[in-house]
Amino acid sequence: MHELSLCRSIVDIVNRHADGRDVRAVHLRVGQLRQIVPATLVFCWGLMNENTPLAGSALEVESVAAEIRCRTCSTTTTISQPILVCGSCTGTDVEIVAGEEFLITTLDLAEA
Ligand SMILES: [Zn+2]
Repeated sequence: MHELSLCRSIVDIVNRHADGRDVRAVHLRVGQLRQIVPATLVFCWGLMNENTPLAGSALEVESVAAEIRCRTCSTTTTISQPILVCGSCTGTDVEIVAGEEFLITTLDLAEA
């Protein structure tokens, strides 16, 4: 399950940034093309952080819709399926402009 190894990396990053302060919430942006199930990620987060200083912190996952831009007609299409076809001219010469994100946007830390 690759959500588990992702959680492990998030824990590493969060611990480095929190620098001993209590973490209330971690905000994450995940592109829909990443094949990550947010609920599974949140589940792993809780499991992995039991009995650690991060127990009780929330993982807030924001899902980012996938967008492609057509090189033929320049239309940007939001796609709900990972099918890379232009919504305007049905061309397949497209580039992905959103949906591959995986980043921590904010940490909510307790007051020092
Ligand atoms: Zn097009």
